[in-house]
Amino acid sequence: MKSVRAAMMLVLALLAPACRKSSSEHKSPQQVPPQTVLESIVPPGSSPPVSLIWNVGFAENVTQAEMEDMYRRFLQLSQDLWSVTEGQVCLSKIRFFDNVAPGASPSASENLRVPNLDAVIYAAANWDVAPVTGQVLFFSPPGTLGRTDRRIDIPDDVGRLTLLHEGSHFVWRLTWSGNHLPPGLDDEYNYDPSDPACIMDLMFSPLRWCSGGTLPAPNHVTKDGGQGATSCWEQIRKDYPAFTFNGSSRTSAPLPPLAVEYTNEP
Ligand SMILES: [Zn+2]
Ligand SMILES: [Zn+2]
Repeated sequence: MKSVRAAMMLVLALLAPACRKSSSEHKSPQQVPPQTVLESIVPPGSSPPVSLIWNVGFAENVTQAEMEDMYRRFLQLSQDLWSVTEGQVCLSKIRFFDNVAPGASPSASENLRVPNLDAVIYAAANWDVAPVTGQVLFFSPPGTLGRTDRRIDIPDDVGRLTLLHEGSHFVWRLTWSGNHLPPGLDDEYNYDPSDPACIMDLMFSPLRWCSGGTLPAPNHVTKDGGQGATSCWEQIRKDYPAFTFNGSSRTSAPLPPLAVEYTNEP
């Protein structure tokens, strides 16, 4: 088994405006404030809602304005995770750092040691793995390639859907059986047939992870490899039995605030 696996993302589709009719049977918003955990991944055994803290480093020395622009993108990511998890997962704090690896390029990312980080942002000019637009490295020993066993790599012009796809890989600790699947959501687009039902495939709209089996709104297409017949939500529910999926991939619960710390080198 490979010690490091790059799970990569190609964004080929623009998100069409979601125009699904809203259901009047919508559950009322959860009034429980999210439990903020110090971890960057939803802890196994936890109960929703959970909010996560991420350490994010710019490879280059950047301005405060660039950090603030990236904060807005992560705020959108928190909103998108909050929606697709129906109000169960969001981010509570981002700690930004810069100048963590000047000149770094993602093609050499498996050698980049940033043990305090969860994500690295590269200068777009140094992004040398196109057409891949973002990646998550899995299976690294904790504290080597990142703070845990995984790390997000993105360029500084990362798009909303790429960030959501990579964030989706990142947030869960899953125990798929077989096929050398990563300990998070997998790249469904690597296997046929293609499936419009999931952020982990390529042509997804509206924003959602696929469902299947006895869960509501089953829509996962059985793949010829990878996770096969198991949908993303089925595996999440196996590993996180306290979490639920009601089939809407939306919530009317307001997004909890996202705090930010900037450690900006002059
Ligand atoms: Zn991916
Ligand atoms: Zn899926």
